[in-house]
Amino acid sequence: MLFSKLFVKTLRQPPKDETSVNARLLEQAGFVKKMMSGVYAYLPLGYRVLQNIMSVIREEMNALGAQEIYMPALQSKELWEKTNRWKELSDIMYQFSDHSKREVGLATTHEEVIAYIAANIIGSYRDLPMAVYQIQDKFRYEPRAKSGLIRGREFSMKDLYSFHADQNDCDIFYERVAKAYGNIFSRVGVTAYKIEASGGSFSKSFSHEFQVISDAGEDKLILCPKGDFAQNVEVAKHKDGDPCPVCGDTLTAVKGIEVGNIFKLGTKFSEKLGASYVDSQGKAHPAVMASYGIGPGRLMGTIVEVSHDDRGMIWPRAVTPYHVHWCDLLSDGTVPPKHAKIINRLEESGLSVLYDDRDGAPGVKLHDADLIGIPVRLVTSKKTGDMIEVTYRGASQSALHSVETAVKEITKFYA
Ligand code: ATP
Ligand code: MG
Repeated sequence: MLFSKLFVKTLRQPPKDETSVNARLLEQAGFVKKMMSGVYAYLPLGYRVLQNIMSVIREEMNALGAQEIYMPALQSKELWEKTNRWKELSDIMYQFSDHSKREVGLATTHEEVIAYIAANIIGSYRDLPMAVYQIQDKFRYEPRAKSGLIRGREFSMKDLYSFHADQNDCDIFYERVAKAYGNIFSRVGVTAYKIEASGGSFSKSFSHEFQVISDAGEDKLILCPKGDFAQNVEVAKHKDGDPCPVCGDTLTAVKGIEVGNIFKLGTKFSEKLGASYVDSQGKAHPAVMASYGIGPGRLMGTIVEVSHDDRGMIWPRAVTPYHVHWCDLLSDGTVPPKHAKIINRLEESGLSVLYDDRDGAPGVKLHDADLIGIPVRLVTSKKTGDMIEVTYRGASQSALHSVETAVKEITKFYA
């Protein structure tokens, strides 16, 4: 990709109306554009990161045997009245009457919708277990939408729903999903703790949240430094300084960003929406359900919060918008054939290259490269001659390499 053709404009300064680190950096680097509080457009650089995150999520969901579907955002009031959540969620659900005076809303989550659909598909115990997921935009009226991508009013969610014949089968699948969530977070480059939290409007019992420790977080957690124990303070029976109930070490209070949340729903939704199955004796039972959410956009904002320095963002390898950022400091707006050859070689090994061909000041190009935060930076200039300077974002040293060594090293870095 040629920088000169990229649909982007980086800013010299972060936008004045943003206070969160993720929004300031993402907007300054032209990854996203704020449309109004809590509502962001993703531009090519940002959308590539979001897609990379979604790809990792899809791979892990598919590996669980879950099938991808796509449900609508627009909802009828009648459906949500069946579970009383039309009223229960009225503070956060966008609800309005349409042109024919019919009351409709925008989905905050999809338990009602999926249970309604499953009621028509699940008939016998032979149809179970079943798991489906989607990646789709949710809408919630968030009163304080000041955390950039971490708290959107319109935001993407991956929501997985599973249906089981009994609680035991549900529990087993729930643990498999928890493991898949662990894979997702470590693959995209964040450390997430699985912690006990409240069930909210979904479940009377506990849920499990996946929390990334960050001062940008809005949740308070009680953690064992050894990782033996973690709870959201909303449910915690322990406080800062108490001994860990598992290992006796001192518990500490930290702030966290909730990147995922998984819930055992029991039969709450299946009973109300008729999602039942008949067992081998012909007796009907409501299916046992669970739901599992991850916010890809929030995850992207979280990555920025935990992976940046004073010059800009530092993308983990698995989600970087491009693999290589090449600053050609001699560029006159064209790509020299010998550079085009190297780009081809990198692309043939599956690596994407953002080539700064702009006819601009070297300082601007290097500044933009730091801000954008692609892990590998190449520089060619008068000084480098036939060699290429390779720098890893976040590391202070750079090295001059022959083309051969540079290509080999970069390929190895991403292997
Ligand atoms: P919070 O307590 O932070 O408001 P929540 O518990 O209401 O979040 P869930 O209903 O559990 O959120 O949603 C599942 C996942 O969707 C969350 O773990 C988070 O990753 C993401 N998510 C929730 N709300 C938002 C939001 N306003 N903006 C971006 N992502 C969100
Ligand atoms: Mg939650």
